[in-house]
Amino acid sequence: MANLILILGDQLTADISALEGADPKSDQIVMAEVHDEASYTNHHKKKLVLLFSAMRHFAQRLEDKGWTVHYQAYHPDNAAQSLEAVIASHLREQGSERVITTECGEWRLHEQISQWHESLGVPVEIRTDTRFIASKQEFLDWAEGRKQLRMEFFYREMRRKTGLLMTSEGKPEGGEWNFDADNRRKWTGKPSAPAPFRVEPDPVTNDVIELVNEHFPDHFGTTEDFHFAVTSEDAERALAHFMDFALPCFGDFQDAMSDEEDWLFHSILSPYINCGLLDPLSVCEAAAQAWYAGQAPINAVEGFIRQILGWREFVRGIYWMTMPDYAKENRLGNTGALPWFYWTGDTRMRCMHKAIDATRRNAYAHHIQRLMVTGNFALLAGVKPEEICDWYLAVYADAYDWVELPNVLGMVMHADGGYLGSKPYAASGKYIQRMSDHCANCHYKVNKSTEEDACPFNALYWHFIDRHRDDFANNPRMGMMYKNWDKQDPDRREGLLKRAEHLLANLNSI
Ligand code: FAD
Ligand code: SF4
Repeated sequence: MANLILILGDQLTADISALEGADPKSDQIVMAEVHDEASYTNHHKKKLVLLFSAMRHFAQRLEDKGWTVHYQAYHPDNAAQSLEAVIASHLREQGSERVITTECGEWRLHEQISQWHESLGVPVEIRTDTRFIASKQEFLDWAEGRKQLRMEFFYREMRRKTGLLMTSEGKPEGGEWNFDADNRRKWTGKPSAPAPFRVEPDPVTNDVIELVNEHFPDHFGTTEDFHFAVTSEDAERALAHFMDFALPCFGDFQDAMSDEEDWLFHSILSPYINCGLLDPLSVCEAAAQAWYAGQAPINAVEGFIRQILGWREFVRGIYWMTMPDYAKENRLGNTGALPWFYWTGDTRMRCMHKAIDATRRNAYAHHIQRLMVTGNFALLAGVKPEEICDWYLAVYADAYDWVELPNVLGMVMHADGGYLGSKPYAASGKYIQRMSDHCANCHYKVNKSTEEDACPFNALYWHFIDRHRDDFANNPRMGMMYKNWDKQDPDRREGLLKRAEHLLANLNSI
């Protein structure tokens, strides 16, 4: 029976489940750069280049192995502008009897593909995505009956399941499950941060860069200095680069931010893991191996593995467990618009300017910039979750709905009632000062609170605490904050609230 096998842009994995048992002599593969997927949000130009180029390289690889691949390159005038239209036209031409694909990573597309058997009139087999360490059902089974879902406990289950960093007696290596307390050092320039891994664009990538510049000129960001890997071999080299040069310091400086260095000791592997060029479990195994070989300390290796085995799997589980209602959550009742400077970086707040400018240039910012700078500001300013979620989905090369949404709506905006954290990650300028050198170069003064040049994070933080008393005053992890707020001099409290009201009314000009 001849099958049409659809491989999506984030399924660039040689042993993707859609290909299992397929026969290159009779089955045919479809891959397509379609307008609907490229344009449903204002994707960063570098994200489009990464995905189109990686898809083209992957399709070539399949053809070299003897597969017939029908590849639709992007053109705004293509007759088929959606994946469904592409599949429909191939079904008409080839007369295939069935469509096979691997489950996609987004509710929106999942809803569409789930209806294709009716609209296309042929069976559509949707296979499990076996690249995740926990299946959707496994997560649901773990979650069932629990009062609270905490990443830490799920992570321990995943450690037991995979044996990663576990002794032969079933105990965590190093005697602890979690070494996070060791991972909070400020970075002051020493040891120097490694240069990021680079691949110079080949002719295929250069063609895509031209295409993106021509047809997506208004999308966020730039294609300049594109240096991401676009093949699995190069992504493996990026992994080796991280293991050799950055992993040993990853833990110590995991939460640090720098005015000078965009990448610090982060792996910059999420763009590859998320589109299938790297396998998440193999990445974790490589890190564990580095510890056993004495090449990196336990706080670095455990911290790194926790991000993938714990957080990455956990947010995916939460997404599929709670969608589609999850996307509409707004438990803090936010109504604010996203300030325009998120798209331009044009603000006198140095930390925000630096994080947004790096995002514009690189389609990348590291976790603490996303969480404690751009995320923290949106939380304190009361931005509507859907607006800030749209921004995060657009601007990062690693952004896909299943991973972006829980991180933003849940972890950053606390709009889901607390699946991703028992308290919001709200912080004043003091946190940013402690973890970075931005404040020394800022127009605003981090030690001031109410004056014209006072750090905006300070007054906004107390305004957030004050306006959400009903939401958080009984939270045991926030009681101390309310005590601190209540014992401040009434004039000072009034001054802080006034300054915050002024900032909130003038967000676009701070
Ligand atoms: P490293 O710091 O080197 O971490 C190693 C790996 O761990 C990453 O490659 C990633 O695969 C995984 N990881 C780490 N933290 C998380 C997390 N919270 N959730 C899921 N995976 C994690 N990650 C995405 O992949 N796509 C997104 O769209 C995305 N949006 C985010 C939005 C916000 C507001 C926040 C706070 C975090 C977001 N993250 C997202 C998680 C994290 O910030 C990125 O995975 C990380 O910055 C990617 O860079 P890296 O590869 O250098 O990561
Ligand atoms: Fe950011 Fe405030 Fe520090 Fe300026 S002073 S860099 S706005 S935290």
